[in-house]
Amino acid sequence: MSEKTKKIVTRFAPSPTGFMHVGGVRTALFSYLFAKKNKGSFILRIEDTDKKREVEGSIEHIIESLKWLKLNWDEGPDIGGPNGPYIQSKRLDTYKKFAQELYNKGLAYADPYTEEELESFRKKSEEQKKAFLYREYRPENPPAWDGTKPLRLKITNIKRYEWNDLVRGNLSAGPEALDDFVLMKSDGYPTYNFAHIIDDLEMGVTHIMRADEFISSTPKFLALYEGLGIKKPEFVTLPPIMGPDGKKKLGKRDGAKDFLEYEKEGYLPEAILNFLAFIGWSPKGEEEILTPKEFIDLFDISQIHISGGKFNEEKLDWINKEHIKRLPE
Ligand code: GLU
Repeated sequence: MSEKTKKIVTRFAPSPTGFMHVGGVRTALFSYLFAKKNKGSFILRIEDTDKKREVEGSIEHIIESLKWLKLNWDEGPDIGGPNGPYIQSKRLDTYKKFAQELYNKGLAYADPYTEEELESFRKKSEEQKKAFLYREYRPENPPAWDGTKPLRLKITNIKRYEWNDLVRGNLSAGPEALDDFVLMKSDGYPTYNFAHIIDDLEMGVTHIMRADEFISSTPKFLALYEGLGIKKPEFVTLPPIMGPDGKKKLGKRDGAKDFLEYEKEGYLPEAILNFLAFIGWSPKGEEEILTPKEFIDLFDISQIHISGGKFNEEKLDWINKEHIKRLPE
């Protein structure tokens, strides 16, 4: 398929570390709208590589929340698809294969240090009043990698990276943002930084929509795309969701609650989606009450905002009432 006609593929890739909250649902919604608008595929992928942070029941909770909202995925852990499995803990062989390849090419090496040694390096950097960079302590003769030690990417080209984000425009970061990061941990699981890149590649993801907290890691991701010799997907950074005062990001106290609470409180799923779609995006036109179908038709990345959008529960109540009024008798 030519570049122009390439099928659009997006994914929502939550980590099962707690209940679904508004931020996650908004990311899922935009990824869904963009895929549907372009007759592409929307993937649900569970990123469960951090076993220490995993919360029991959250995978079921994520699936239940998305189903209630009818943000239906085309490929996912429950329904499968051509590039599954869609749960990272079931894909360990794939990560190992790519890790081994990087290692064989001399682009990755085993990290021989103990926690104490690493801590002493950190202290040393602190004393010298500079940011800690692992690569400044890179071992000269690392041991063979047998899976019992972490595997790190060897950043060979220390340079300034420039990249384009479809919302933020041109971004760049200097060598201080580049370090030899961990690809595989000593427990045999990959890091998020590694696993998501392999999965996006294997699953044919064309557009990554995610929160702004990942911008600072992007130079590392770019170094890995280079090491693997692959083209990066498009980056689409979504604006933060701010609390009602617009000053700080939405926290639990301002309403970032378990998403299924809204169902219990009598909100309609289409009202919630309507409300969330307007946080950080505005379509052309004045209409404020829209159906999911209308959102799909209207959706356009160029209208996603850079700055944060306010979370205002009164607005949600109003939108919900309007949707209730429009329900058939
Ligand atoms: N698993 C990541 C998270 O839940 C997803 C980030 C991404 O979309 O790449 O924060």
